Amino acid sequence: MRDNSIAMIDKTVFENKIAAYYTLGCKLNFAETSTIGKVLAEQGVRKARAGEKADICVVNTCSVTELADKKCRQAIRRISKQHPGAFMVVTGCYAQLKPEEVAHIEGVDLVLGAEQKLDILMYLDDLKKKESDGAIIASESKDIRSFSPSCSADDRTRHFLKVQDGCDYYCSYCTIPFARGRSRNGTIASMVEQAREVARKGGKEIVLTGVNIGDFGKSTGETFIDLIRALDEVEGIVRYRISSIEPNLITDEAIDFVASSKRFAPHFHIPLQSGSDDVLKLMRRRYDTELFRHKIEKIKEIMPHAFIGVDVIVGTRGETDEFFEDARTFIDSLDISQLHVFSYSERPGTQALKIAHSVDPKVKHARSQQLLDISDRKLHAFYDAHIGSQAEVLFEHTRKDGRMHGFTENYIKVEIPYDNSLVNETRRVTLTGWNEDRTALNCELVTIG
Ligand code: SF4
Repeated sequence: MRDNSIAMIDKTVFENKIAAYYTLGCKLNFAETSTIGKVLAEQGVRKARAGEKADICVVNTCSVTELADKKCRQAIRRISKQHPGAFMVVTGCYAQLKPEEVAHIEGVDLVLGAEQKLDILMYLDDLKKKESDGAIIASESKDIRSFSPSCSADDRTRHFLKVQDGCDYYCSYCTIPFARGRSRNGTIASMVEQAREVARKGGKEIVLTGVNIGDFGKSTGETFIDLIRALDEVEGIVRYRISSIEPNLITDEAIDFVASSKRFAPHFHIPLQSGSDDVLKLMRRRYDTELFRHKIEKIKEIMPHAFIGVDVIVGTRGETDEFFEDARTFIDSLDISQLHVFSYSERPGTQALKIAHSVDPKVKHARSQQLLDISDRKLHAFYDAHIGSQAEVLFEHTRKDGRMHGFTENYIKVEIPYDNSLVNETRRVTLTGWNEDRTALNCELVTIG
């Protein structure tokens, strides 16, 4: 049993140490890696510069699919070669779900489960025991309950604020509830304080993230609508985006609020997963296509210019040709802007494995391609419809080939010749037409007066 008191930590182990951080997977992981970085920075551990050898490597992993596990293994091996002799800490969903497997990857020294990831200091006294045999596994708890506040700033404009963690839904194909535990959240007051802190540091845009953010408030007796109302009052933040929110949890009241709010962008990301009611039942999702269509129509009725991104999974067990055709027709009929298409991946321990019918990988691939084609068509139509119009753009700092990018409120990517004075600034622009490789719209600044 470890002593969980920070006072008991031998701080000399952190002297002159350099750490490198790697994140795979979702925005929630990025936010949490950022918090781990802050915890180490408070002990004087400096972040490694590009190309610099680190003493400590922290890899925050994802396990959403079999492919994600594979990418994590490859990343850990690559990082281990880039930082020979570094103390390698692996955490995140893959570490929580398969700690023994992770511990056996060459170069791994410490495996931290979901409950332990922010207690990293308690385990880093093992820095001194790098030569000991085998990795240490610290993921005792199967009952994940703590909520660790996290907010990342991976560039100077956009911040990811974790408002919620875990999920109580147990969709038949998903292992996230096993990796991240039950739904829980911080208080509205603590979220508002973190947003104020972002504003104090000059941050302009915050993306609300979580596993199932519409479930916000379950552990504090508050509600998602009250959270967004409170955040909308924080001075200095120019815009908020709501990351993925379940269709049955985005209430009509919340949609109305976004339409009239000062700072919430007309940008929605709603997972549909399948456009077939039969498949939705097999997936144990908590809505049907009728409810989903209502949400899209409601958004478009009051915010015709809103960007709506939709997640879909193809090739889940039970998705027959007929069910897929129902899904494809339904998806094509929706007034949405873009699809995020995922191929179903079998996950150990899930209920979906009990469904007899499985889809051939070639069929899965062909279905995926059909939906990607629909996505391309819809995204291009959405951009085309905005050419010639004006929009507010928040410009980002990355410079590439003398150009820079930014996003409109409704998530249209724009491009303009690089100008340092525009970084992290909001400007009114005219969208003039497609850029050369058709990945963004060119724009011109609107001069006032
Ligand atoms: S809502 Fe379903 S798919 Fe999303 S995290 Fe929860 S169980 Fe997984």
